[in-house]
Amino acid sequence: MAEVTSLDALSKCPKVQSDGNSIDTFQILNVGTLEADEGWFTRGGGTSTLSNPNPPRGRRKMIIMTMLIDHPKEGLILFETGAGENYPEVWGAPINDIFARVDYDPEQELDKQIELTGHLISDVKMVIMGHLHLDHAGGLEHWVGTNVPIWVHEDELKHAFYTVATGTDAVYLPHYMKFDLNWQCMTGDYLEITQGITLRLAKGHTPGLIIMQVNLLDSGTWICTTDMYHVLENWEDNVPQGWLARDHDDWIRSHQMIRMLQRRTNANMLFGHCKKTAEKYKFAPYSYT
Ligand SMILES: [Zn+2]
Repeated sequence: MAEVTSLDALSKCPKVQSDGNSIDTFQILNVGTLEADEGWFTRGGGTSTLSNPNPPRGRRKMIIMTMLIDHPKEGLILFETGAGENYPEVWGAPINDIFARVDYDPEQELDKQIELTGHLISDVKMVIMGHLHLDHAGGLEHWVGTNVPIWVHEDELKHAFYTVATGTDAVYLPHYMKFDLNWQCMTGDYLEITQGITLRLAKGHTPGLIIMQVNLLDSGTWICTTDMYHVLENWEDNVPQGWLARDHDDWIRSHQMIRMLQRRTNANMLFGHCKKTAEKYKFAPYSYT
C-alpha cells in the first residue's frame, strides 16, 4: 500500500495545478451533523478482546458536506445535496435513532448554505452525485420536475432503483429516487465532465460511487471522496469501513487508485463525514480559488 500521509501533511500540501485548467471558485458547505456508533465507519471499532471484554462503545459526530463550484463555462455546479429538509421525519425510526441528527442549525439547510455564497439554490445548473445514499441525495428533492442535470454513475442509479424497489438496503430512500429528475449517467471508469473537473468510479462503499477531482489555480487539486472514506482513519491508517462497507475487495482496489491519484496531484482530500479533517479547511462563504 502507498505511503501513509498525516493530517498535518495533507493540510500543508503545496499548491499544484495538475491539469492546466482552472475554475473560478470552490466552496465547502456545512449542511449538518449526524451522530452514530463508530462501528459503522471503522472496521473493528469497539471490538471486545479477552483482556477487555466490554470496551466502551465509541460514538462519532459526523459532518455532512456538499461542495459548490462556480465554473466559467457551466455556471454553478453542486457536488451532492446532503440529507434534505426535515430528514429525521422523512427517515423515521429506527434510521434516525441509528444516524441521529444533532446540533441542528437551520442555517445549515442546503438553500441557506447556498445563499451564504451569494447565490440561490435555483441558480444551480448541474448536480453531481458521488453516490445516492440518503444522507447525500435527500436534497435532490429540490430538483424534482426541473431540467437541471443530475449526474451519477449508471451502476449507482441502477442499484439505487433496484434497492428501493426491493427494499434490500434501507440506505436508499424512494422520496428522491424519482423518474422526474433529469438523470444523466456516467458509464465508464473515468469522465472529464467539464474543464477542470474529472470523475472516477471508486466502487466499494457502493457499486457506483464516484469521486470528484477539481483543479484550482491557487489552492491546487481537490479530491472530494464522498463516502469512499467516512473518516480520516479510513484513508490515513488504511482502516476499511465498518458496517457501512458493501464490497471489501472493490474498496481496496479503489483505495489504491485514489492513493496514487493523491500522490500524483498533491491533492487536498475531503472525506465524506470527517469533522476533524473538514475543520482544517474553511467553510462557505469562504471561497477557494
Ligand atoms: Zn454518508
